[in-house]
Amino acid sequence: MEIDSEIRIQDEKDPLKSFRNAFLIPKDEKGNDVVYLTGNSLGLQPKEAKTYLLEELEDWAKYGVEGHVHARRPWVEYHSFFSESLARIMGAKQEEVVAMNGLTTNLHLSMVSFFRPKGKRTKLLCEGKAFPSDLYALRSQLRFHGLDDSNLVLLHPREGEHSLRTEDILAKIHELGDTLALSMLGAVNFYTGQFFEIQKITQAIKAVGAFAGWDLAHAAGNLPLQLHNWDVDCAAWCSYKYLNSGPGSVSGIFIHEKHHGLKDIPRFEGWWGHDSESRFKMPDHFQPMPTAEAWQLSNAPVLSMAAHRASLDLFDKTSMQELRSKSLKLTAYLEEILNEIGKKYQTDWTILTPSEPEQRGCQLSLLLPKKGRALFDYLQSNGVTADWREPDVIRMAPVPMYNSLGDLNRLKKIIIEFYETH
Ligand SMILES: *Cc1c(COP(=O)(O)O)cnc(C)c1O
Repeated sequence: MEIDSEIRIQDEKDPLKSFRNAFLIPKDEKGNDVVYLTGNSLGLQPKEAKTYLLEELEDWAKYGVEGHVHARRPWVEYHSFFSESLARIMGAKQEEVVAMNGLTTNLHLSMVSFFRPKGKRTKLLCEGKAFPSDLYALRSQLRFHGLDDSNLVLLHPREGEHSLRTEDILAKIHELGDTLALSMLGAVNFYTGQFFEIQKITQAIKAVGAFAGWDLAHAAGNLPLQLHNWDVDCAAWCSYKYLNSGPGSVSGIFIHEKHHGLKDIPRFEGWWGHDSESRFKMPDHFQPMPTAEAWQLSNAPVLSMAAHRASLDLFDKTSMQELRSKSLKLTAYLEEILNEIGKKYQTDWTILTPSEPEQRGCQLSLLLPKKGRALFDYLQSNGVTADWREPDVIRMAPVPMYNSLGDLNRLKKIIIEFYETH
């Protein structure tokens, strides 16, 4: 399918265009690159991931246990090879971030430290339409503390609206006051793509004396963040969505430096959180690392983290600001396409995602109560990889690292074909 020439010209001018070549893009039946719009679910594979992984396999073969110190990237320090890049992506100090575990595990570890119900301060705050794993984690934390579900406060949009208004979130926090213990919202909601005003909301949470935690699953690598300056207490993310590090790859955690080095903080502890100077003297008592590394439990899963390193190397070659600036153009073009087609063909869809660019990342979510499934199937069979959420939502996320305006131009033609024939 031909891409319009003016779109081609714009893509030629894109300062980030060469990044696309650093990724392996799945092919459709005709052997063309698919239009891949599911970087919000599983980011594409960086070509270098294989090299990095093979290097670890080679070093393991060559050195056996000695690889802990002699590997090209010594395994005892492996977790520390991520902090600098992650700090840049998260807007954090290096000491405040560490790559470890899976996301849901890290949400739990964060809550062990920052959900400390006491007296009447027992409430947990979250979006109503949060990712299910987050709701399971929150409810099980309540149960763990002997509290019932009434302590989980869920935020819902107003009647007839799809996203949450910041003023309503702030009002709820104010209303909860000294009953609020911890807020754990998804910074970008997985379903609507709404990007919350983290700074304002965090400030309000702190003002009532609660802790502010954020799930960054759909924000990490999608938008510039300033976790340190925004005074966020804790956050966690996964690396397989916008961070392109492979299925189930390692998560990461942010712990604000003001919580470092505290002796009495509640925390589940393991030997990799112990002071690295004396870790291998194997003392009986835990001496925490003076950084977020104190939250680590186990030694690093090097094989899965190798792909993460390959991906972060690409992030190191650009910045979240540059990526965001391209992302704004891509998402605006996608929105323009949808609005144009929506008008011309009187489609039944609604864009759930806020129309203000500062209230969203790259994803747009389309609610299509009637022809949704048919359109989705048509896209799939015509080389577009999008994402279907039961019962009636298509999510599409043009990712600035590897998507182009040309991809969206192809998408446009395929959607038009669908409405011309259905
Ligand atoms: C993707 C996602 C998860 C997935 O959790 P894992 O522990 O990585 O399997 C959890 N929460 C949110 C908000 C997500 O978007």
